[in-house]
Amino acid sequence: MKKWLVRIFLAIAVLAIASGVVTFFVIEDAVDTMFGGATPVAQPGLAQRSPDRFVLANVSVLGPAGEEFRPRQSILVEDGVIRAVGPSVEPAGSIAVIDGSGLFAVPGYTDSHVHLWNSPNDLLLYLANGVTQVREMHGRPHHLQWKQEIESGRLGPDMYVVAAQLASYGLWEGLWVGWTSGRNVVRSPPATARRIESLVEQGYDAVKASSFLSREAYAEAGRASREMSVPLVGHLPLAAGLPDLWASNQSEVAHVEELVKALGREFGGLRSTNAEAFLAHVRARRGEIAERLAANGIHVTSTLALSESFGRQAVDLEGLLPDVALGYVNPGVAQGDAMGWVPGVNPYRVPDAHRNEGWRGRNEAYWAAYAQAHHLMLEALLDAGVTILVGTDANVPVMVPGFSMHEEMQALVAAGMRPAQVLASATSLPGRWMEWNTGRIEEGFRANLVLLRENPLEDIGATASIETVVVNGRVLSRADLDAMLRAVEAANRQAGSPAIAD
Ligand SMILES: [Zn+2]
Repeated sequence: MKKWLVRIFLAIAVLAIASGVVTFFVIEDAVDTMFGGATPVAQPGLAQRSPDRFVLANVSVLGPAGEEFRPRQSILVEDGVIRAVGPSVEPAGSIAVIDGSGLFAVPGYTDSHVHLWNSPNDLLLYLANGVTQVREMHGRPHHLQWKQEIESGRLGPDMYVVAAQLASYGLWEGLWVGWTSGRNVVRSPPATARRIESLVEQGYDAVKASSFLSREAYAEAGRASREMSVPLVGHLPLAAGLPDLWASNQSEVAHVEELVKALGREFGGLRSTNAEAFLAHVRARRGEIAERLAANGIHVTSTLALSESFGRQAVDLEGLLPDVALGYVNPGVAQGDAMGWVPGVNPYRVPDAHRNEGWRGRNEAYWAAYAQAHHLMLEALLDAGVTILVGTDANVPVMVPGFSMHEEMQALVAAGMRPAQVLASATSLPGRWMEWNTGRIEEGFRANLVLLRENPLEDIGATASIETVVVNGRVLSRADLDAMLRAVEAANRQAGSPAIAD
């Protein structure tokens, strides 16, 4: 009798362990798919390697102040670095010459807020759009690996990898969130300091505060990041107020939206019925907030086009999606449950069950006020001289990696920035913030360049008129860039996306 009981117990234990293991892998696989990892890796057929040394001749070059183009310049590039710029450069020996007649050379763009998730195909989308540096804002170990591979010659933008956000949760929720989203869950101030130390050891360039970090852990993140000389960036935790931001070591706020949300909390919550009062609160408070940010040297990343898109995603997603270049979006991401783009999974779309009497008007009023608050805040930031970095939150619906960079630059000009200011926020300013020798066309800087057919100082839309991209000295012609785009589309089609069936 006893023997049988033991056997039954053992059989149940084996079944439980086996089903646990299967469940683990099923979830791992589902998570990887929804973050794009199941899509085949795009394999573009590109022209042979470009020369290690070349002169880009007879091109208009954006001047050091970024306010004008200097005509008929030459740029000497050797081993991925700009060696000379001027009306005539004289390289020793014979050298390849690339004719830049009629073209405008600008530094390669930096998208200061992207999410690469699990597919390297986005790397190609960035280069094809002239984005030669990205700041990955949810960095995981495989991103550190891509960064290294790119440093040793893999095709892709230079990567600044911010470790996945620090967040405080209870035990069980923390285990689940840490596993499925990769967030760095920390439940106490000492755990926060230990985690930051470990992230720095792993090679991350910066650490990120999330909305869900406790006030105590946020204060400790500020202290520990200062002590370890690692930048602290990201959100302002919901549990913290603006005074906590001034007291922290945070050197960048990842969205203008963070400031709008903080004002919303101060105000007691924006609703469709109190929009005017909320906007009056923003007007009353924005000047002081901007002054404080400027005084503390805190940079603000824009992500304005995303915030402006919320209203249409909420009430008219079906009308908006045909205007989005969905063919380039990883189908796992677009259709996934995490941050899906299409109806049914899109987190911004008002669910059908909530579409009752008057829903459209209420949502339109709410999101219009929300967007206007961003514009008011941005205006104050510019007046106070706060440094703005162009960032798009690429891969959050409906920000198509690479393409969103141009959309964002246009949104910023429409919001009142001059094209020269926007270009600086996309090139030299992020280069300076990252402490990289990138973002300027000057001797000693990385040869990350974009050659445009039209002048972006006259029309910011010209940032997309790309003829050639140079990344770490490698020349990618328009034909190469088109091949990269086609390869990503083909990989997405292979991954079976009904979203791109048309
Ligand atoms: Zn983000």
